[in-house]
Amino acid sequence: MRHTLLVIAFICVAFTARSDSASPADPQLEGIYGCPPLNLSDARTDRLLAARKRAQRRGVCNVHHIRMQMKRVPIHFGLVDFQDPYFDYSISYFPNAEDYVRGGDEVDPAAEKKLYKKFICRKCKEVEHEWAVAHPKNETAQYILKSPQ
Ligand SMILES: [Zn+2]
Repeated sequence: MRHTLLVIAFICVAFTARSDSASPADPQLEGIYGCPPLNLSDARTDRLLAARKRAQRRGVCNVHHIRMQMKRVPIHFGLVDFQDPYFDYSISYFPNAEDYVRGGDEVDPAAEKKLYKKFICRKCKEVEHEWAVAHPKNETAQYILKSPQ
């Protein structure tokens, strides 16, 4: 139940933050983030987030169509940077790779001590790693490359 609320909160933040972001490709962003943007429309983003949410309920990856493994994962706090191309690539090509849940921008010390159930797709992890290797200047890619596989 708590996990479901976290996912709903994450999606609400995503919808709010992206409502005015239908801008064309900005070459400066590629320099800042070390990766070209995908420039997904808000409607496409909504569909991808909904597909990922359904996959997390069913346990079958919405991109790779394979059964995922249920894991107990930590919670990470902090704002999601929706301008980071990682977000669009993630929901498009490796939506079930993140081995943590997002807890929002306010740290909750009690929640931080717990682990949360989440389905993880082994193929998404592979594709995420390949993406990180291909975009070593991206800050999220650097985090992925430092994390244990
Ligand atoms: Zn997958």
